[in-house]
Amino acid sequence: MTAGADHVHDVLVVGGGPSGSSCAYWLAEAGWDVALVEKEVFPRVKTCGDGLTPRSVRQIADMGIEGALAGAHRYTGLRAHAYGKVLDLPWPEHPSFPNYGYIITRHDLDAQVNKRAVKAGATVWQGTEAVEPILAATGASQTAGGAGPSGATSLLPSCVGAVVKDKATGTTREVRARYVVVADGANSRFGRALGTQRNRKQPMGMALRGYYTSPGHNQPFIESHLDIRDGEDNVVPGYGWVFPLGDGRVNVGVGLLSTDQRWKGVNTSTLMDHFVAWAPKEWELSPATCLGPPTGGKLPMGMAVGPRVGATTLVVGDAGGSINPFNGEGIAYGYETGRLAAASLGEALSGDGVEALLRYETRLEDAYGLYFRVARAFIRIISRPELMKLCVGTGMHSESLMSWILKIMANLLRPDETGPAEAAYRALALIARLAPEGA
Ligand SMILES: Cc1cc2nc3c(=O)[nH]c(=O)nc-3n(C[C@H](O)[C@H](O)[C@H](O)COP(=O)(O)OP(=O)(O)OC[C@H]3O[C@@H](n4cnc5c(N)ncnc54)[C@H](O)[C@@H]3O)c2cc1C
Repeated sequence: MTAGADHVHDVLVVGGGPSGSSCAYWLAEAGWDVALVEKEVFPRVKTCGDGLTPRSVRQIADMGIEGALAGAHRYTGLRAHAYGKVLDLPWPEHPSFPNYGYIITRHDLDAQVNKRAVKAGATVWQGTEAVEPILAATGASQTAGGAGPSGATSLLPSCVGAVVKDKATGTTREVRARYVVVADGANSRFGRALGTQRNRKQPMGMALRGYYTSPGHNQPFIESHLDIRDGEDNVVPGYGWVFPLGDGRVNVGVGLLSTDQRWKGVNTSTLMDHFVAWAPKEWELSPATCLGPPTGGKLPMGMAVGPRVGATTLVVGDAGGSINPFNGEGIAYGYETGRLAAASLGEALSGDGVEALLRYETRLEDAYGLYFRVARAFIRIISRPELMKLCVGTGMHSESLMSWILKIMANLLRPDETGPAEAAYRALALIARLAPEGA
């Protein structure tokens, strides 16, 4: 769709990654006039482990494009390594999620999902950066409503568009909309300009990944190492991975949780070097098979960024800290929060206004509230090496226990299994109280 300079869209989405493209798709599919600006031009490289779990596959299928994954590497479960033990854990059977995932580069994946939004009717301007929010004339910061990261209740100022810059020509113009969705990723400059902040008391992830050629590129399992070590052989809270891409390459990385002071000094590059040297020899990871220097990024998690709601504004995906703290997975949560935001925006546009936007927070709490609280308790535990060894070391002795842990970590419990999840939460909370933060 083309529109004149004074056109007011129903919704402007800033960012075309998983969260922004999903939000734009669901809005366009419902018939709303949605515009999306993406500063890069698809297909574009994005630093990631490239791992799609069954939760991501479900969202991609719901958008009608699982066929676009036909050339990607399909895998059936996780091979967990820890403390000298190895367990093969297939994805569980679940009424809502498939029992397989895919490994696909974000270069290929994100372009497909964005294309889907365009096909559904979204207007997408690529190579176009939102450089500054346009606030409503009366758009002073308001109080009451969504909870900010400090727990204080506040709303974002009313945003009614953005000044956008065409990166090829350098020209700027205004794009106006009744509602604005912030989907600009972990660094979220646009979100921060509106007033979002990360709660620094909550955990944050850092991860690094690189590509290697490997004879294991076609393995049916992804591999996680749950006891990665720093230069002094201390087990650190995080994991190393080898994800086979099926095209001759594997994606290799390390993720680290910065929870308390003791892990803040760990250098992820050194951790990566150790992991590559330490990974099972059959992957043949070495400088000779390395395809380039690793790149990394931040993983804002557990809904630690807020506020996520304003009278005309919602924040989705990494910009709102929606990554799963248990496993660092963010693609599924980007798709899901984009979709939840689209549902609230549809209600707002149908007449419910700001009340509908406030329901976005309720939707997030219903979807992730308890689960992310369990995850935060879990992180406090694994930040203490002796408790980490107790939990993971014990789990590795029992395949059925580890299968449960996998289900909890990948958020794949069946609805009838929420009882055990709550019990697990209570148990974790109890242990977490014994291991207070900063202890
Ligand atoms: C090393 C690493 C490994 C990871 N591995 C996995 C994994 O295997 N599986 C998994 O599920 N998750 C993984 N994640 C997390 C995952 O990458 C993110 O959670 C996910 O990309 C979030 O999607 P998003 O749409 O919120 O943000 P992004 O994917 O970051 O998308 C934001 C988009 O907005 C654009 N943008 C930014 N600012 C502007 C602006 N001002 N104007 C216009 N456009 C803008 C960007 O170019 C980008 O395309 C990993 C993360 C890292 C760092």
